[in-house]
Amino acid sequence: MIKKLLIANRGEIALRILRACREMGIKTVAVHSTADRDLKHVRLADESVCIGPASSLQSYLNIPAIISAAEVTDADAIHPGYGFLSENADFAERVESSGFIFVGPTADTIRVMGDKIEAKKAMNASGVPCVPGSDGPVPDEPKAALKMAEDIGYPVIIKATGGGGGRGMRTVYDASDLIESITLTKTEAGQAFNNDVVFMEKFLEKPRHIEFQVLSDTHGHAIHLCERDCSMQRRNQKVVEEAPAPGITVKQREKLGNAVAQACVDIGYRGAGTFEFLYENDEFYFIEMNTRLQVEHPVTEMITGVDLVKQQLLIASGEKLKIKQSDIKPNGHAIECRINAEDPDTFVPSPGRVDRFHVPGGLGVRIDSHIYGGYSVPPHYDSMIGKLIVHAEDRAGAIERMHGALSEMVVEGIKTNIPLQRRIMEDHAFIAGGAGIDYLEKKLGL
Ligand code: ADP
Repeated sequence: MIKKLLIANRGEIALRILRACREMGIKTVAVHSTADRDLKHVRLADESVCIGPASSLQSYLNIPAIISAAEVTDADAIHPGYGFLSENADFAERVESSGFIFVGPTADTIRVMGDKIEAKKAMNASGVPCVPGSDGPVPDEPKAALKMAEDIGYPVIIKATGGGGGRGMRTVYDASDLIESITLTKTEAGQAFNNDVVFMEKFLEKPRHIEFQVLSDTHGHAIHLCERDCSMQRRNQKVVEEAPAPGITVKQREKLGNAVAQACVDIGYRGAGTFEFLYENDEFYFIEMNTRLQVEHPVTEMITGVDLVKQQLLIASGEKLKIKQSDIKPNGHAIECRINAEDPDTFVPSPGRVDRFHVPGGLGVRIDSHIYGGYSVPPHYDSMIGKLIVHAEDRAGAIERMHGALSEMVVEGIKTNIPLQRRIMEDHAFIAGGAGIDYLEKKLGL
């Protein structure tokens, strides 16, 4: 079993991981930049190491500094959290070749799933439905590319196989724009991801974003933990997430859930992961796999009662996954609102000192946040300052509970998106359930 874990992340997720370790009797090492000395988990960790200046490139993305910190503190494992180095195959490789446990899949799996063409090939082979499109790169020959788009049917989307973070993709509505769009996407992808290979898929116009959580051990046993709906998005960034997804039937869940669990076994997946799908006209289409823990994992924890971080640590230690598929019975409904330090109308980040912080409470209310009164939100990182999660017997109850919790929550000194989250909880289409990924931006007039 892991004895001492280095947490290679910051903010709420570092605190979340630390809490799991404390309950499991695992010692913790926090690593932080010079701008993050006052982070809550740094104070709570058994040991802490400053790994560099504020710039992420020199601290949270600095592989040699993180490995050295693990060496000097004698940690035996490294948890990457989400973002930063969590899906960096070279990092996973360096962690393992330096003799530490990487809490996540193998570098090879990260590499395959990080390449969207390869990932789609692997999913097709396991019988997981994908968005119709090119089975490989878009051909260089313009005539062949035009024929491909014609066969798929406009609109199509050109996507960088190495893309991520919502970048490196372009929608094409008309044949006259196709060739130029391919060239532009290739150039951008080459610069941004050092890989200019692009592929083509059907562009779905009003899909929902539905994703399946999985856990897979190193003994050939994998399960799914139901789905989440993350369709409330702005600029491909999730704003609200919930589980289960409204309107998805038990049959649909079982069919796709079993397919993704089988895919985990087929690809030798290790740890927690998420299969992301677009859902339109009662059909699911795989878009990508996230080979890490996700921001929205708490909604799954609330409806299944499974602590996903503890399971990650057990699996990384080589333990057998004790949970059977038949143990997973979704209970009630959970919603998560991401709380960001930003202007609720312009979305401009609002770092600075938090003068007062009052958290909501009561039955079924959970706060995952690292902030506290007197804490200064640094300007160098993501603006998310926490997550408010509620759980209730059903979806309507969860919306009511979230609405109440949001109105109880006080963050003074900086601007937050709490007013926007309250508007969403009052929105007729959100309340009805099943809005598409285009909905929130339209509502906001973007
Ligand atoms: P990334 O790795 O950059 O997050 P994804 O493949 O997950 O890329 O796509 C990000 C987002 O782009 C999706 O959540 C969806 O909003 C949009 N998108 C991607 N592919 C399609 C598609 N075929 N049709 C419509 N929207 C798409």
